[in-house]
Amino acid sequence: MKLEKKIIEKMIEVASQTAKNAFAPYSKHKFGSSILAFDGTIYGGCNVENSISGLGSCSEKVAIDNAVSNGRYKFIALCLYDTEDQYSYPCGACRQYIAQFKQVGGKDIKLVLASPLGYRLMDFKELFPNGHYDRSDTKAIKEYAD
Ligand SMILES: [Zn+2]
Repeated sequence: MKLEKKIIEKMIEVASQTAKNAFAPYSKHKFGSSILAFDGTIYGGCNVENSISGLGSCSEKVAIDNAVSNGRYKFIALCLYDTEDQYSYPCGACRQYIAQFKQVGGKDIKLVLASPLGYRLMDFKELFPNGHYDRSDTKAIKEYAD
């Protein structure tokens, strides 16, 4: 599936709408994400903070978890929408989280970094060329790749 402009715009729409639901009482910084599965479906996620520092979830992780909850494990693109006028990159933990599913899909994942300013495209492998993969991963994830 080619990542057409129309699909990118739909991903940004889902991410920006989902950002409105973010639970960010501490940072006040709302993010939304959307992830495009191989079959063309798009799942959203927002950041969810907690009074225990570090217990919250980033929007990218929530979007992936939403997709996985719906039985999708292979992805074409991930959009990270920052509600402030800047382009944000996935944090270190999310990079590893995304890398796991890049491995399942067997292809790189396109990143759509978006904000009210517009968007930029980037290849995930540029941002995070070497994820951590356990030796047993290839066999363990095969059932999700099929
Ligand atoms: Zn993160």
